[in-house]
Amino acid sequence: MIESPLLDKLTGYIGGRWSDSSEGNTFDVYNPATGEVIAKVPSMSEADVVAAVEAGKSALRLTSPYTLETRRTWLEGIRDALREHKEEVGRILCMEHGKPLKEAQGEVDYAAGFFDYCSRHIQALDAHTLTEKPKDCTWTVHYRPIGVAGLITPWNFPIGMIAKKLSAALAAGCPSVIKPASETPLTMVALFRLMDKYVDMPDGMVNLVMGKASVVGKVLCESPDVPMLSFTGSTEVGRKLVVDTAEQVKKLALELGGNAPFIVFDDADLDSAADNLIANKFRGGGQTCVCANRIFVHEKVADAFGEKLAARVNKMTVGNGLTEDVDLGPLINQAGFDKVKRHLEDALANGASLVAGKKPEDLGDGHLFFPPTVITGVTRDMCCYREETFGPLVPMALFRREEEVIDAGNDTEFGLASYVFTNDAERAQRVAAGLRFGHCGWNTGTGPTPEAPFGGMKASGIGREGGLEGLFEFVEAQAVPRGF
Ligand code: NAP
Repeated sequence: MIESPLLDKLTGYIGGRWSDSSEGNTFDVYNPATGEVIAKVPSMSEADVVAAVEAGKSALRLTSPYTLETRRTWLEGIRDALREHKEEVGRILCMEHGKPLKEAQGEVDYAAGFFDYCSRHIQALDAHTLTEKPKDCTWTVHYRPIGVAGLITPWNFPIGMIAKKLSAALAAGCPSVIKPASETPLTMVALFRLMDKYVDMPDGMVNLVMGKASVVGKVLCESPDVPMLSFTGSTEVGRKLVVDTAEQVKKLALELGGNAPFIVFDDADLDSAADNLIANKFRGGGQTCVCANRIFVHEKVADAFGEKLAARVNKMTVGNGLTEDVDLGPLINQAGFDKVKRHLEDALANGASLVAGKKPEDLGDGHLFFPPTVITGVTRDMCCYREETFGPLVPMALFRREEEVIDAGNDTEFGLASYVFTNDAERAQRVAAGLRFGHCGWNTGTGPTPEAPFGGMKASGIGREGGLEGLFEFVEAQAVPRGF
């Protein structure tokens, strides 16, 4: 079992109190590197989730909202607590997710960055008066908190994903009911421990419920007291939430799946492209929404690029994230492992060839460690081209012409992240404009940052997190014209 000063309470948190499941149910949390159960946490009931929503309602202030200064103090408090406890929060994260310790601790810094950004830009949410006077009135635009927000997060960034949502919700003055993924609830409990101890927020401003998605999701979707749901996860569940909230015309912010094209032209700096691909693809064990999923390489440089990738991949170490110098941890669970294996089997059976890594039959059983693997000769009928693999498989496809690769990049229902490597600035601009993706890195595989808006086009989502766009997600503009 995991021991940590930040996990001395292993329960939910409702209305400012640590709160167990009213029905006494629990579920197990595993360390994917060892297969051991590291904690038991409450699986909360429908009544518990309703109580969390009620607590949020009682913390909501519409007629005299918390001042910008007060909200800034909350954000700064969370930022400082995360930075101060980065090592321990990162260790908990590493144990329940599996990513290497340094990477896990880096994610805590990344999360703190969102609270910092919102605290520094909160003034943008202040009311302003229009200088023009439409219809001879003076118009003031207010940014009202939308109300109690349901925040649902995935397991792949246990602290990063909640930071994006919670920072903007608190900046707006919205109380929230938070549901972490069942694979990784412990990092969230640690965050609540820090907020409880170090940040002076009203009871009910932040509430934590854990347990069955069907139970929590039902209340959050159906309650008229939750006017907004902010969800990060799969497109499949996102679609269900659209249907389940349609009756109430609930506001949805959806950060969904991806199928990122990573395009390497023949004039690109191949070493830099390879380094960027390795950093991008293997972060979180290849289990990120922004990681390159289809690598399109110009046919003239395909062999050279493949060799550079193989050389890098062959030096990578796979193992328990708590061990020093590990580059790649385990996959999150057996279903995740089986999916990557299925994608590899399918590609090899349909004509792709192995450049680096192991054949499916050599992978072994009884563990979740999947070696970094590179294949080439990938075509659009293969699973790894059409679906999000979510694992350390690098599938290369060849291309000849610019228009062809733009069409190929867009040949997916997803539109989250994309990357183009070329030293021709005009071509880069054309390709970025042609790709229907919310994020397009030019000669960089870098992902989202607190300062810039991030989100998906098409089936990858609705709305943005980060940047000023993200800061405005939890407010509703209200125009108040004043007559004379
Ligand atoms: P998931 O299965 O969709 O689950 C995400 C969260 O939703 C979990 O907390 C899950 O709870 C909950 N959930 C599942 N069904 C629900 C329902 N009917 N109602 C309410 N909540 C429900 O996704 P995942 O496997 O955790 O995460 C991987 C996916 O997230 C990938 O597709 C990835 O691309 C995407 N992602 C997108 C972004 C982005 O910024 N666009 C960022 C990160 C990840 P349980 O854990 O209890 O099932």
